[in-house]
Order: sequence, then C-alpha cells, then structure tokens
Amino acid sequence: MDKTYTFTYRHTRPEELAAPDLQLVERARAAAAAAYAPYSGFRVGAAARLDDGEILTASNQESEVFPSGMCAERILLYWLQANAGGRRIGSLAVATGSGHRECYPCAACRQVIADTEKRQGTPIRILMAGTTSVTELDSARLLIPFRFEL
Ligand SMILES: [Zn+2]
Repeated sequence: MDKTYTFTYRHTRPEELAAPDLQLVERARAAAAAAYAPYSGFRVGAAARLDDGEILTASNQESEVFPSGMCAERILLYWLQANAGGRRIGSLAVATGSGHRECYPCAACRQVIADTEKRQGTPIRILMAGTTSVTELDSARLLIPFRFEL
C-alpha cells in the first residue's frame, strides 16, 4: 500500500518575519563568525530562543581529527542539556555566515533536534535562513518523519 506524507511549511523573506524571529535569524548569522571551519569553509550558526526569552548561540567547530568536528545545532543542544537541562526551546534558527542560501540541518542534527523536542514535550519551531528567504517549520519532527526512537 502506498502512503503519502505531506506537511505544511512557510517560505518567506527575512524582512517578512516577525521581529523576534528576524532577531533570532540575525543572531544565528552572527554566531557563524565564531565557526572554526578551515577544512570545509562552511560556517554555520545556530540560535535558540528559550522559553524565558534568553537566546543561546553556537557555531560549527571542525577538528583536524576528522570527523571529530561538530555542527552548530548539536553543539547548542548538547550545551543546553549539559548546563541547563530542563529549559525549553521555543524556536531554533540556522544560518550560514555568508548567508546566501538557506541552511538546512544535516540528518544527525535533525534527529537530535527531534529528540530534544520529544524530551521537552513542546514543539520547537525551526527557521532555516538564507539572505533572501527563510523556510519555517512549526515542529522539529517535520525535519525527520521516520526518526529513530528507542
Ligand atoms: Zn548537523
């Protein structure tokens, strides 16, 4: 039996975002400046707004001990869990430093973002930003519909 998976997302321009979302995207772009990406040259920033309004940021960090580097999204989520577990993320923005095209999380990050959403019990809105467009999802589970679960 064939089945179809569909979902709704918004595709908009950054200037059409609500002010808090635009601020989050700008924080993600700014965070990319702290990336250490001498091998790929691909600088990524992530910014999360917590339920109390605080914004946390991270950037990707590569290592000469390949593949020991880590994506911006997972650095942010693991830091939050290690240092402030129990706080919830409302929205998560991802952007590149150059920003010309939308930046989508890799598959491993999609799984970890969805795990975080499941653990906190409330949806994490996702903003994947480029210079001229942003794709927005209402829930991280939409990033990875057939995710691993224990
Ligand atoms: Zn990743």
